[in-house]
Amino acid sequence: MVTKPPLLALSLPDFTSFLRSRGIFTFHAVYKADARKFATSHNVLDPILEYFRDEGIDFDSHEGIFGQIGPRSGVLQGAFIHRTCRGAGAGGVRNWSYKTVEDWFRDGLRLSRGMTHKNALAGIWWGGGKGLLARNTGIGLRQGNKLDGRKMVFEEYGSFMTALRGCYVTAEDVGTTDQDMAAIFSKTRFTTCIPHEFGGSGNPSGPTARGVLRGLEAALSYIGKSLEGATIAVQGVGHVGTKLVDLLLNKEVSHVIASDIDTSRINLASKKLKKWADSGRLELKTISSQEDTILYEDVDAVAPCAVGGILNPQTIPKIKAKIICGAANNQLHDLMSDDKLLAERGIIYVPDFLVNRMGIVNCADEAVGYIDDDPNIEMHLGDSWDNSIYNLTKSILEESAKRNRTPQELSVELAERRSWEKNPIWGHRGIKIIDSLIQSREWKRKTMNEL
Ligand code: NAD
Repeated sequence: MVTKPPLLALSLPDFTSFLRSRGIFTFHAVYKADARKFATSHNVLDPILEYFRDEGIDFDSHEGIFGQIGPRSGVLQGAFIHRTCRGAGAGGVRNWSYKTVEDWFRDGLRLSRGMTHKNALAGIWWGGGKGLLARNTGIGLRQGNKLDGRKMVFEEYGSFMTALRGCYVTAEDVGTTDQDMAAIFSKTRFTTCIPHEFGGSGNPSGPTARGVLRGLEAALSYIGKSLEGATIAVQGVGHVGTKLVDLLLNKEVSHVIASDIDTSRINLASKKLKKWADSGRLELKTISSQEDTILYEDVDAVAPCAVGGILNPQTIPKIKAKIICGAANNQLHDLMSDDKLLAERGIIYVPDFLVNRMGIVNCADEAVGYIDDDPNIEMHLGDSWDNSIYNLTKSILEESAKRNRTPQELSVELAERRSWEKNPIWGHRGIKIIDSLIQSREWKRKTMNEL
């Protein structure tokens, strides 16, 4: 039994006050895997990191964690870098409210490892990383905040990226927009998903929805069905969910039920999807709480496109659909056991990181120059490449049945294997950047002067 350090229970505003009271505004923790030890900028971080290491759920030899309290905004900002053998740790920056210090670290650790798997499975020469902005700290970034304040936070995050010298490359994620990426881009080159007017790829949700559609097609075809005539429930009508609903209805599915907890999102979706609502083939529902879900609808497939952790011992027994396949990251609450619970119930779970790769694929290509109808993007969505979403999903489902292993286990195994392959040009450069960073006078000054 690992004892939880009391700091983990602090709320994030209290944590930032605690750090400030110690004169800590920038911090890091770098893991030395051989010695199983952390090199941290401040001793107070050691018990936190050691707890996650010993607990062993979300920590997986992450190469480095970097954080700062925004110099002007006071917003807690982080960059979690999991593994950089294939290239820079890459993944979006999430703008979210976290209850406790534990939630913040856990989300960063889990999501960055997920990005390693997603990028490796997609065959991209990028490692795994994730950014976090705690929007319940400092001036915050909740809706309605003044635009100037918002821009300032993302500019700060851009300068933070520059200070990391490329071991992490950021992108858009939940709670951010391409305009936020433009603000980051004004301070750094280590970002993607920047708006088209700056030569970037913009919001990645369209390609992500197309990828999820291909995953759904593969899973339905695996059980001898097709999208035509199928019934699908979509959880969340945000950026991806709304586009997915539209694509599904264009593909002649017979009926879609979609939900959101946010009435404004439902209103927006009903405007965008009016023709489908009018046709009677789309039902949009506002739900009142996280517990009241549409996961239990009697449909062929459920596509979670909202938040993670929704597949757990409480929800799984009530699911009626044969297939779960959606965009939301980390749908399984417990990565080690919830996939097995689903398999025991005969539910095909298509791992999120297998089908929601298109956002990051878009970003990876943007980093080397953005072109319309990019064949390097289209090959992920087609049928001719054996690593396309459709083909890989089908082959993993077939192997899963043959070997009596869950699709999650097989996908993680394949992703892990690929994630250790070294970048053919740069080798394991990310870890060298991290090492040089913490040795550098600039970074030492950033952390030391504050002690
Ligand atoms: P978004 O914030 O635009 O949309 C998410 C929607 O889910 C919001 O409208 C929110 O109100 C709603 N929601 C939250 N809890 C809900 C619940 N219990 N039931 C119903 N609705 C609920 O985010 P997005 O960009 O559409 O992404 C959706 C998911 O897909 C996220 O988990 C994200 O990490 C993942 N993802 C997105 C992309 C991308 O390209 N945008 C790429 C990969 C993965």
